[in-house]
Amino acid sequence: MNPKRRPLIAGNWKMNHGGKTAVELASGVAKLTASFDKVDVVVCPPYTALAAVVGAVRGSRVEVGAQNVNPKPSGAYTGEISPPMLNDVGVSWVIIGHSERRQYYGETDGGVADKTRAAMEAGLRPIVCVGELLDERERGETLSVVKRQLNAFSSILADKPGFGAIAYEPVWAIGTGKNAGPAEAQEVHAMIRARLREISAALADQTRILYGGSLSPKNAKELLAAPDVDGGLIGGASLKAEDFARVAEEAQRG
Ligand code: PEP
Repeated sequence: MNPKRRPLIAGNWKMNHGGKTAVELASGVAKLTASFDKVDVVVCPPYTALAAVVGAVRGSRVEVGAQNVNPKPSGAYTGEISPPMLNDVGVSWVIIGHSERRQYYGETDGGVADKTRAAMEAGLRPIVCVGELLDERERGETLSVVKRQLNAFSSILADKPGFGAIAYEPVWAIGTGKNAGPAEAQEVHAMIRARLREISAALADQTRILYGGSLSPKNAKELLAAPDVDGGLIGGASLKAEDFARVAEEAQRG
């Protein structure tokens, strides 16, 4: 981490805790992170729990994000949720381009850019995800794949240095218990920051680049110590308030 950037720890609950247990989990996170004044904490529950979680964390340090958004403001798009709808429910963040959406729902680089633009226009803060597949890493294509994904939306960020965050999530590390090593993560984070610097120095200096992929209390310290890792996007370990708070505590310690 770099002291110039405030760390961000975000929890992606995926398709878990969509009902009553969401409030318990969110309240637990709010309680355990109440004294953490040097880190931003975001939880991203499923749509069905957003309103309840926004209520549960009101007055705490915890902010709430959605896991996806449709770029259109309204219309005949059955089953979809728009940026103004997320505004209505009190959500301030949204994850965009998660690898599970790219993999299972055909989300493209262009679609990720459309969602990022629409979310930002509505005042939401996107956490835009990038990351290579295992075979892409094995072929030595990691940096070129991530650069391609980044180039699809980076120009949208040009005059918006504080827009939100980018999450580097190697797909082979997500939910597998196999995290990238600090040096592997740092190499990609440094490339992302260098690319942002070509757009503007402010964008490069202010953008928080999160690491995601089996981040847990066990490996948080070493991963967060990498100079261009500014926090984490956490799946599995965000489903237990204690584990999630322990990662946030590492970020708080700096
Ligand atoms: C994720 O889904 O964004 C993620 C990083 O999951 P996990 O922490 O479980 O690997």
